This record gives sequence, structure tokens and C-alpha cells, in this order.
Amino acid sequence: MSLSIRSKPYIIPEYSLTGDLLAYLTCPLQYRYQNKGTLPPSMPIQLWFGDFIHGVMEEAYLKWKENEWKDFPWDWETQIRQIELEIHKRMESRGLQPPANLFCPFTEEDEHQGLCPDTHHPHKLVASIRAEAALNTWGPHLFPLVDDSEVRLKGIRDMPHYQKGTSRSNYYGVTGIIDVLSSVKLEEASDRNLIIKYLHRDPAFQEKLANLDSDKYEVIVDYKGMKRPSIGSPSWDHHYWQVQTYAWLRSLQPESNPVLIGILFYLNELSLFKEDLAELKREVKEESTDIMPDGGDRESILKWNPKHRIPLFSESFRHLRSIRMIPMDEVSLERSLQEFDNVVADIEGSIINEVDGQVIQASWKTNPDKRTCDACDYKTFCKNSASTKKLTVP
Ligand SMILES: [Zn+2]
Repeated sequence: MSLSIRSKPYIIPEYSLTGDLLAYLTCPLQYRYQNKGTLPPSMPIQLWFGDFIHGVMEEAYLKWKENEWKDFPWDWETQIRQIELEIHKRMESRGLQPPANLFCPFTEEDEHQGLCPDTHHPHKLVASIRAEAALNTWGPHLFPLVDDSEVRLKGIRDMPHYQKGTSRSNYYGVTGIIDVLSSVKLEEASDRNLIIKYLHRDPAFQEKLANLDSDKYEVIVDYKGMKRPSIGSPSWDHHYWQVQTYAWLRSLQPESNPVLIGILFYLNELSLFKEDLAELKREVKEESTDIMPDGGDRESILKWNPKHRIPLFSESFRHLRSIRMIPMDEVSLERSLQEFDNVVADIEGSIINEVDGQVIQASWKTNPDKRTCDACDYKTFCKNSASTKKLTVP
């Protein structure tokens, strides 16, 4: 397989924060096969769901804004399902098929079974259960605060370790897409708004607010189709860098106001499944998560085992677990940009290895992790896969 390089003259490689940098950090070799390979596009579960849930939340916001449906909760069959199918069609046209057992792509009229349990479509599978929970939990609090949705960000940085003749370019581009909440809308919001409540309770936010020169500020938002990472885990840190970097990109836009804080929504926390719960149980025992359960929630997590049904946790616990506030900080912003420079340097280095004739598997690092590997399409021929599936020759 040869890597296609665009004509020599001048290219600026462009890296999206989530699609490239975070995907690369999950596993470099998997990233290589997904993004730069000639294999048919196919995504691991988490990436597919991440794209899907972003699409569903954005489309739902537009519907809400156009006054089509104002009152929550929305009904899955008659309302949310329309949005899901619309997003699925859009993703499918980009070649992105839902992983098996995650999403039912059919309507009542469809007669074939596909990967569904039977022909009684539509099936409310994992992706739909989570989309419904995300929308009905956060939609009513978040949508009234959104000032600008799907804001496209772009910045240029110096290529790390630039070498004339070897490096592809002396610059690289960083891109990202965010939702922006503005101070104006935050002031108008009802005092029953959960997001406002959490913001007001956050000491770092209060301090930033007190030290602000102008009366205008912004909060940026991103959705994560995953469970809340444990403190200090790679994802925990990467998300922190991501939000700092978004704030930097936003600050480059002339119409922006200072970004005080970023909010991440870990949407799987609203409805945990077995693997997530097993992880949470371990984290609670090790006290490695920042939002610890108490009372009945704690008891049902510690007593749970994979043969049991998933217990229903208290609403406040689910809410707190699914929202993460990240205050902006100039020192960590600098460090975050540096981290991303390092990742770009790594990716560019691997590309150069390949261009120099090294085989793919030798050119890219791997990051074996059982969950990532089990969900990876390339596990059968990856030498370092942590998945127990047998190796085959490609
Ligand atoms: Zn179905």
C-alpha cells in the first residue's frame, strides 16, 4: 500500500482535534488504517457513536430553535427517531456504517432483518437509548443557553521540528467544532437551569467571573460519547488539553469574548452498560474517579456483578457524572498546545517513515488496550493487539 502525497508545491497538513489528535492518541496504528488507508471506511464503536451523538444533539438543537418542538421530554418513536435516521443517512453517505448491535437503521416498513434481533423495526438499541437520555436530560438545560452552534475553529501553528526537505510543511492547521454559550443567555436563563446551577457552584468559575474585566464571556461545550474517564487517565488529560486548545482557537476569532470555562458532557453516564459499569466499580473501589457515589448508589455499584442487571442510579448522581467543567488557565493552555505539537510531530514522523519506505506496521506506534483492541477492525492483523482474537495474515 502506498501513501498518497499531494503534489510537492505547498500543503499545510490539517489536524482536527477530535478526529485526528484524539484518535491518534487512542491508537496510532488504528488511526493510520482509518484515516490514511485504502481500506473501506469503518469506525470503531466509540468514534461512530461520537459522530452520531454530536449530529443528533446539533440537529435536535436546530429543531428546538426553530420552535418545532419546545417541550421536553421528547418521545423516541415519534420525535427522536426522525433525527436519528436523518443523522444516520448523513453518516452513511460519508461511508460510515453503524457497528453491529449499536443502532437499528430500519423503519417499520423494512422487511429484512439486517443486524437487528428480528424484523420488528425500529429497535431501540444502545445508541438510541443513549441519544434519548442525552437529549431529554441535557436538551432542556443546554439549548436555551446556546448562542452559536457548530462554530468552526481553525488555527495555524509552526510545524514542530521543522526540517527543510524532510518535513511536509513549515506550518500545520488545527481545526475543531464547538457550541458556544454566551454570558447574555446565561443571565437570561431560569434559576432552575441545572447547567447554571453547576456553574454557580464551581469555585474556579466564580473566581474567573470575579476577575473578569468585561461583562461578556463565553462557555464552550463538547459532547463525548463515552463514560467519564478516571482521574489522571489518558482520556481525562486529553480532554483537558482539548478544551484548552478549543479556547485558544476560539480566542483567534475576532467576534469572540473571553472563554471562562469549558463543559464536557460524558453522555454514556446517563445510561451505563456492563463494560462501563465494571470500570466504574473498579474506579469506585480504587477511588480513582472524581465523582464518587454515596448511599444507595454506592451500595448498588459495589454489590453489582456482570451477571446482574444494571441498577438504576439516582438522577443527581447521573447528572454529576455526565458533566465536567474545565476552567481555562493560561499556563495549562500553553502546555496543551505543546502536547498537541508533540502529537503532530509524532504523526508527521510516522508519515515520513512510511514515505521513506518503511512498512505501515513498523512506521506507526500502537497503543494496545483491551477495550480499544476488541472494538478495532484491524485486530486480526495487528501484532500488538490486546484482543484475544487469533491473528491472521492480512
Ligand atoms: Zn431493527
